[in-house]
Amino acid sequence: MLHIILSALRGRDLFHISGRVAFMANPETPVQTNFVKQIINEHNKTGRFANRVHTRFPPEPNGYLHIGHAKSICLNFGIAQEYGGQCNLRFDDTNPVKEDVEYVDSIKEDIRWLGFDWEDREYYASDYFETLYEYALTLIRDGKAFVCELTAEEIRQYRGTLTEPGKNSPYRDRSVEENLDLFQRMRSGEFPDGSRTLRAKVDMASPNLNMRDPVMYRILRAHHHRTGDAWCIYPTYDWAHGQSDSIEGITHSICTLEFEDHRPLYDWYVDQLGIHHPQQIEFARLNVTYLVMSKRKLLRLVQEGIVDGWDDPRMPTISGLRRRGFTPASVRDFAERVGVAKKESTIDMALLEHCVREDLNAHAWRVMGVLDPLKVVITNFPEGETEQLEAVNNPEDESSGVRSVPFTRELYIEREDFMEDPPGKFFRLAPGREVRLRYAYIIKCEEVIKDADGSITELRCTYDAETRSGMPQANRKVKGTLHWVSATEAIEAEVRLYDQLFSKEDPGDTDEGLDFLSNLNPDSLQVIRAMVEPSLAEAMPGKHFQFERKGYFTVDTRYSKPGTPVFNRTVTLRDTWAKVNKQ
Ligand code: ATP
Ligand code: MG
Repeated sequence: MLHIILSALRGRDLFHISGRVAFMANPETPVQTNFVKQIINEHNKTGRFANRVHTRFPPEPNGYLHIGHAKSICLNFGIAQEYGGQCNLRFDDTNPVKEDVEYVDSIKEDIRWLGFDWEDREYYASDYFETLYEYALTLIRDGKAFVCELTAEEIRQYRGTLTEPGKNSPYRDRSVEENLDLFQRMRSGEFPDGSRTLRAKVDMASPNLNMRDPVMYRILRAHHHRTGDAWCIYPTYDWAHGQSDSIEGITHSICTLEFEDHRPLYDWYVDQLGIHHPQQIEFARLNVTYLVMSKRKLLRLVQEGIVDGWDDPRMPTISGLRRRGFTPASVRDFAERVGVAKKESTIDMALLEHCVREDLNAHAWRVMGVLDPLKVVITNFPEGETEQLEAVNNPEDESSGVRSVPFTRELYIEREDFMEDPPGKFFRLAPGREVRLRYAYIIKCEEVIKDADGSITELRCTYDAETRSGMPQANRKVKGTLHWVSATEAIEAEVRLYDQLFSKEDPGDTDEGLDFLSNLNPDSLQVIRAMVEPSLAEAMPGKHFQFERKGYFTVDTRYSKPGTPVFNRTVTLRDTWAKVNKQ
C-alpha cells in the first residue's frame, strides 16, 4: 500500500513508500551535495583532471526520452554548470536496427525544453566508427583481440556462469596476421551476417562475466541513420561507449548502476589503448510509482495504439509531460529533490505532482471553468444584461493584472456544488442557503427545478446586488465560494482528465503469465465537455491555467484550435477548497 503523508501543517511534505526505501524530501531545502559531487571535489583536490569537469548525456536514439532521462540530463548538465565545465550531447547510435532520426530530433527538442544547451558539442558514436576501427586494429596487433567464428549461441555456452569459469574459444590463439586479415575482410563485407565477431582477449576465468572475451564487433548488414550503408560491421555498445567518452575528453562518465560491472572492461580498453581515462560513476536509476520507464515497454504502448503517441499526456516521456502541462522548472526541481543515490528506490508520483503544482501556482493564471455544468437562473437579474466583473489573474503575481468576467442572468455552477439535502459540513449551495460566486455576488437558492425523472435541471436563485466588490455589503461573510461561468457568454471546451496509465503502483508486478499491459488502468482518460469563461477562447496551445478549485490545466498542443481550445488537466489542486473558503 502506498502511504502519502502530506503534513502541510508543518510546512513540509513527506513522500514515503512503505516496504521499500523510505524517501523523504523537504521541499524547502534543495540537496546541497551528493556523492557524485564529492568524487569530483576529490579529483579537483588531487588534480586528477586538472580541475576540468566535462560530462556528457549519452542517449541511444531508439525512443523518446522519459523522466528517468530527465534526471540524468539534469545531473550531467547541472554538474557541468556548477563546476564551470561542459556537458556534451552524444548519441550512442551503435545499433542501427532500432535507431531513427525521429528519435534524434525529439531528444534534442526535449533537452532544449528542459533548459540545457550543448552548444556545438553534438556528437555521435557513429562519428567515431573509423577511430574505433583503428583502435580495434591496435588491440589486434597487440594480441588483445581476435576474430571468432563461434555462433552467438556457442559464445553463450562457452561463457560459463557466475559459479563456473568460461572456456577459451578455439579461435582465440589465431596469429595477429590472420586476425588482421580476417577483421579487414569482415569490414569489406566478405562474410555473412552473424558469421564472425571480433572479441577482446581478456580472461575467460574472470569472476566478472563482462571480462570473458566480450564481443567488440558483429557483422550486420543494416542501414544506419547516419552512416548509411558504409559499414557492415558495428561496434557493440560496450566497445563504443568508453572509447567515445575518452575521445571526447570526458572526465566524469556518469551512468546508471547496471554499468557498474562493465566499468572494469571500460577501464581495461582505455588502459590497453593508452588513451585518456575518464572516471565512470554509477548512480541508481530513477523509478517512479505507477510509471513504466523501459523504452521497450513505452514503444509497445505506442505501437499497439494504447496511447496517442510518444507524447500522450499519460506517458512518462518528457514530451508527454510537456503536453500534459508539466513545466521545465518543475521537472528540474523534481530531479534536484530526488537527488542521486547508490541504492535503488522508487519515488512517489506525488512528489512530481507537488513540484508542478508549486511552479504553476506561481505562474498560472486563475480562470473559471465548469466541468459538470448545472444551470442557475438569477431571477432578479435583468434579462439580456451583461455585467463585466473584475477577476484577478494570479494572486501570487501582481504583475499578471486583472481581466473581465461576464456575469449574466443565466449561469453555470458545478453540479457537485449543489445538494438538495446536504450533510452538516457541506458549505456549498443548498435550498435556502447562500454562497458567494467568485468575483461576483452572494446568491441564494430559492427553487430547485427537476425533470420528469427527478434529476435536477436548473436552480432558481436570487442575488444580493449589494455584495459585489466595491458595494456596501462586499465583505458580508458566507461559508462557501463557488466558481461559475455565464451560460450565455461561456464557450464550450473539450477537457481531458487523466488518471494513472497503470492501476498498480509497480506496473511491472504482474500475475503469472501476464505482462505489464494487464495492469493498464481502463479509466486513465476521461474526455468531457466543459463550459469555460470566454477569455479562454483564444488561449495559446501550451499555456497553463488554474481552473479555480479544479486543478491546473494546459491547452493541448495537438488538438486545440483558435476558438475551440482543448485542455489537458495537468494535475488536480490540493486543499483548494480550504483556500477558496478563506477568501
Ligand atoms: P532502456 O530503457 O532501453 O534501458 P536506457 O534508459 O538505458 O534504455 P539510454 O538512451 O541508454 O536509455 O539512456 C541515456 C542515459 O540516460 C543513460 O546514461 C542512462 O543511464 C540514463 N538513464 C536512463 N534511464 C534512467 C533512469 N530511469 N534514471 C536515471 N537515468 C537514466
Ligand atoms: Mg542504455
